[in-house]
This record gives sequence, structure tokens and C-alpha cells, in this order.
Amino acid sequence: MFLSKSDYIMALDCVKALWLKKNRKDLVPEYDARTLQSFEDGNEIQDLARKWYPNGVLVDSESWDVIGGAVKTKALAETNDILFEATAKLDNGCFCRIDILERNGDAWNLIEIKSATSVKDYYIDDLSFQKYVFENAGYPVKQCRVLYVNNDYVRHGELDISQMFREEDVSERVAEACKDVEMYVKGMLSAQQEKNEPETTLHANCQDCPFWGYCGKDVPEYSVFDLLSAQAADLFYNQTHSTKVEDVPIDLCSTDRQLIDRDCYVNQAEHVEPEHIKEWLDTLEYPLYYLDYETVQCPIPMFDSSKPYSQIPFQFSLHVQEQRGGELKHYEFLHQERSDPRRALAECLVKYCGKQGSVVVYNQAFEMTRNKELAVLFPDLADDLLAINERVVDQLIPFRQRALYSYKQKSSASIKYVLPSFCDLSYKGMAIANGGEAMSQYKAFLEGKQTKTESQQMFEALLKYCGQDTYAMVLLMGVLYRYAEGNK
Ligand code: SF4
Repeated sequence: MFLSKSDYIMALDCVKALWLKKNRKDLVPEYDARTLQSFEDGNEIQDLARKWYPNGVLVDSESWDVIGGAVKTKALAETNDILFEATAKLDNGCFCRIDILERNGDAWNLIEIKSATSVKDYYIDDLSFQKYVFENAGYPVKQCRVLYVNNDYVRHGELDISQMFREEDVSERVAEACKDVEMYVKGMLSAQQEKNEPETTLHANCQDCPFWGYCGKDVPEYSVFDLLSAQAADLFYNQTHSTKVEDVPIDLCSTDRQLIDRDCYVNQAEHVEPEHIKEWLDTLEYPLYYLDYETVQCPIPMFDSSKPYSQIPFQFSLHVQEQRGGELKHYEFLHQERSDPRRALAECLVKYCGKQGSVVVYNQAFEMTRNKELAVLFPDLADDLLAINERVVDQLIPFRQRALYSYKQKSSASIKYVLPSFCDLSYKGMAIANGGEAMSQYKAFLEGKQTKTESQQMFEALLKYCGQDTYAMVLLMGVLYRYAEGNK
């Protein structure tokens, strides 16, 4: 039996997850698009970070060949000071690779490369397991560091690798965490060999676990974990072993929203506050401009005046309506060249958005922040871009504030839940059906990973998807008017 670093981290959270991973391989799900994208980001950052250590030597071994990797590491460590992907393995089955193994006198430094922009707590657990393995494999460890992305770096011209990263010495925190590693490892090694799966209790964070489909198979689609705060849901489940919303006593709902959500669900009903909706509708000024952006994020900034993970807008859809129920005009922008889309997008936006009338968005922080960033980037357009922000009205508000709520929303005010609760419009079957897909496909285009035909198909899918997002807001506006007037 082996125990890797990711096994160790998984078991620190839940030993049953480790047992299932080792003993029920049929339950291990395939990676979803988001996880694959984060692996890709991680690989890009790894490759770049290695350039910061020009004398480093790669321990070239297959990922499955742990023993071969450990033997090669021993040999290369004789004559080199910096190794990439150094591998160590212990007789008890524990093994790991470290991104960078750096000689420090008669000892070694462990350096983990992370594509994140801050040091997360679980990196300390990562490194404490790595320190335990390397030290017991004969590599005394002097220092532990995390190399992570500096998201204050603004690219100008050639990429400056020395500005791309920050480094933090976490040796003391790792030393503290290391005290318990041996004890945990012993428990994990024996637990994964148990014949029967360990008994554990479900909790709110289980919904993020790859085995949620198995452990949570009896949990209703809408449960206490959606209705209550994580702490309250865990307490309720521990006391009652029920996950049903209808079993939650009213006095456990600590907010008006929870009371409304619970009541609507129990009665399979809607909650309507017509006056509250009217108040919001009264803030609108025609013509209405329904606006939605699509953006792309890259860990390594691709364009001048952008930072790691900057949200670069490359597309917008704009539906314009002169009066209530009036004819719709549709404008759109999609940058179809492999270059910085922001100037052309900003000019187009200013041209089509006019000077007067509300700009309707869903979740205003996103669009308004993009406009502010564009205003800083293009001072000659700043007045116009900031004037657009002055006109923004957020359609999320009446749904989030429960002026209108349907039990079908399952405690969410996201447009992906609100829309099907009140309208027939669906994203099912669309070639691009969510913002994550739009981003990853456009990124592949920017990186030159698509054929011309693939790009053409993707552009068509993007135009349909983003156009549908603003059309969805138009439909929801009709819904809000109807409910404000007492019609459904
Ligand atoms: S779903 Fe929860 S109980 Fe099941 S393995 Fe994951 S964390 Fe453990």
C-alpha cells in the first residue's frame, strides 16, 4: 500500500475518502473541466518557475515509477544542487515528489510551487508530509518555502520572471505541523487496509468531495446543507440524522431568507413581495441596456498592462429596449483575433451603450469592476466607461432579497437557478453552456491550440451563449413586471 501527498491531504479531511479512493476505484470520478483547467494552470506556472532556477536538473521519471524516480533522485543529488521533481519513498509506503529540492550546505531546502496568489493553510500540510518523507529517506531538511504567483505584477513588454513570483519561508509552520505527521500516517496506512469502509458523519463540506455522489446518494437534491449555514446544518444533522428541509424547525432558521426558503419549499410555493419588486422596478430608466461580459483569465499575463489572473473581457452582448415590452435591438462584440481585446471592446461598448438609460446587469460587481479596470487602462475613454457604471442597475437584487423567490431556486439567486424557475429558456444542449467553458475555449484559441474551423465553431457558440445571457435578463424583467402587478 502506498500513501502519496494527495492521499495524505485527502485523509486529513476525511479518512473515508482515502479508503474509498484505495478500495472503491469504481467510485473515483473523472476530473471535471474546472479541475483540468487548474491542472493546466499549475503546469504553466511550474514550467515558468523552473526558469527562475536555471541550474536545476529534472528528475525525469514516469509519474507511476516512484521507485525509479527515487533511485534517480539519489544519483542526481550526488552531483547537483537543485533538482526538479525530486522523489523520495519510504519502506512504509509513503512517497512524494517535491517541485524543487535545493541544497543548503549539508542539508536541503524543500520548495513547493503553487499557481495560487497566496499561501493556503493546506500547503503547510503538503510540506509537512514532504518533509517527513524526505527526512526519513535521508535528506535532512533545513528550510521549507512556498513559491506562489505575485498578482501585483503588471506585465510591460517581455515577461519578467523575477516579478512573477513571491516566496515565503514557512519552515516554522511546517516544523509545528510535522510533529503529528507520523501519528497521522500510521492511522491512515492502517485505515486504508481495513476490510470495511470507515464510518463517518456527513457534513456541509461533503458537497465538495469527489465521493459526494456516493456518500450523499440519499440526501435530497435540496437539503439542509443548502438551506442553513454550514455550522447550523452540521449541528442539525448530527442531532437528527436528517437532511430534509421539511424537518428543520423554524427556530433554527436564523434569517428571514432561510424562513422564506424553508416555507416555500415545504409548501412548494413562491414568495412574492409586489411592493418590493415595484420599488426596484421604479429605479429603472428607459431605454434599458442589458449587458453581459465574457472574460478570460490566464495565470501568466498574455498582454501588456495585465496581471496574473486579470479578468480580460473579450466579448459582450447588449440587448437594448426603448420602452417596456418594446422591440429588442441586439449589439454584440467578440474579439476574433489573437491579440488584446480590451481597446476594441471598450470602444464598442461606449459606442453602443449610449448616454442615457439604465444598464441592467446580473451581479453588478463583475461588470462594474471590468469597466473600472478599462477606465484605468484607457484614460481617454474613462469618463464614458465610468458614466456607464453610474447607470448600472443590478437585476440580482430583487431575487437575492427575496422580493421574488421560487422553491425551485433551492436557496440560490444565481441566474442559472432563477431563470428555469420562472422561464422556459434553457442552456441545455448548447455547445457552450456556461462561463467556465467560454473561458477555457477562448483561452485555447488565444494560445493557438485550435484549428481555424474549431475557432469558427467556437465563435458561433460564444455568440449564442452570451446573447442568451442578456436575453435571459430581458425575460426575467418581464417576470418581475408581471409579479409586481399580481400576474404570474
Ligand atoms: S462525502 Fe463526506 S463522508 Fe464521504 S468521503 Fe467525502 S468527505 Fe468523507
